[in-house]
Amino acid sequence: MTHSGRHFLQIPGPTNTPLPVLAAVAKPTIDHRGPEFQKLGEAVLAGIRSVFKTSGPVIIYPASGTGAWEAALVNTLSPGDHVLMFETGWFATLWNKMAGRLGINAEFLKGDWRSGADAGLIEARLKEDKGHAIKAVCVVHNETSTGAASNIAAVRRAIDNARHPALLLVDTISSLASIDYRHEEWGVDVTVGGSQKGLMLPPGLSFNAISEKALAAAKKARLPRSFWDWEDMLAANKTGYFPYTPATNLLQGLKVALDMLHEEGLDNVFARHDRAAEATRRAVIHWGLEIQCRNPAEYSSSLTAVRLPEGHSADGLRAEILKRSNMSLGNGLGPLADRVFRIGHLGDFHDLMVMGTLAGVEMGLAVCGIPHRPGGVEAAMKYLNGNAGSVAYAAE
Ligand code: PLP
Repeated sequence: MTHSGRHFLQIPGPTNTPLPVLAAVAKPTIDHRGPEFQKLGEAVLAGIRSVFKTSGPVIIYPASGTGAWEAALVNTLSPGDHVLMFETGWFATLWNKMAGRLGINAEFLKGDWRSGADAGLIEARLKEDKGHAIKAVCVVHNETSTGAASNIAAVRRAIDNARHPALLLVDTISSLASIDYRHEEWGVDVTVGGSQKGLMLPPGLSFNAISEKALAAAKKARLPRSFWDWEDMLAANKTGYFPYTPATNLLQGLKVALDMLHEEGLDNVFARHDRAAEATRRAVIHWGLEIQCRNPAEYSSSLTAVRLPEGHSADGLRAEILKRSNMSLGNGLGPLADRVFRIGHLGDFHDLMVMGTLAGVEMGLAVCGIPHRPGGVEAAMKYLNGNAGSVAYAAE
């Protein structure tokens, strides 16, 4: 089926790429060993630090986020090392599986896929580990499969309260540049990021922000690594270059994306995401549908996962919306397949895009005969216009 009008890419990443970023990516590829590249390399390697809120090094890989997950593990750990991970949802599960494949002894604290990582459970487990066998705690900041954001400052406090020396590794793939995140202040040792969400770039770049403690751990870590090795990267990055061919055109786009984020101001970027998320939740609550994340304090500002009533297909709804309205929504992952659909509200968007997205969902609900109370779009609009009352969230 052909469509007129622009496609609405409202999945929780990859997100819509702004035209200035696309234009920069489309510029001719330059010599990655030449002087022009050096300026670009220096600019992006310096500019990205403020997005992670760190003064330390940030490595940029020509890889999707999964590569940066692997880099975080293989640079800091040795075969058989014990790590503690928290089952927030699908992405935490994949990271855990990867750790197992790499020969890491990855303990998985059970979660309910409806809330963030439980700092209390992490603290209790670390306190039991008197011999300090656990070498790292790994947490997904924003679980993209459920729309639950974990409190990373609380996880840091849990580690400190237990007086435990474990490293803290955090995945910010769907929160970086969308939800407030502070690598340095929260004492995170490795932060994993990706280009295709809050950073508004196409997929293809991923990041490791590294603490001094992680750098020291890397000197002793014995997991085999070559492509992901921080050492070669950091050496080349000192002069703005890379040890192998970087994703030159994506770096050209990154420079523009960073300029845009800095011009808007990160706090304004976060506030824009908070507003879109709140408008979306008001629509969902008005429709009478259930939000997958059960704890309002952990609601994600970059996506909302919505449960459909028993007997109704979330994939059927998404297919109908794609056909009729030319809009892509996120699917349910793992055990949430067909039970949940996900509305992305991150990256490059404004109020009208949020309203268009919600209108597409409400039309789809009606066409698919999914029980709901019409008027969610209006509830969201009232909120965005600043004249909506409060919505009572049922806390756990
Ligand atoms: N972690 C999170 C939280 C994600 O949302 C994703 C992808 O959506 C990944 C990891 C994996 O990243 P990628 O698909 O870029 O390899």
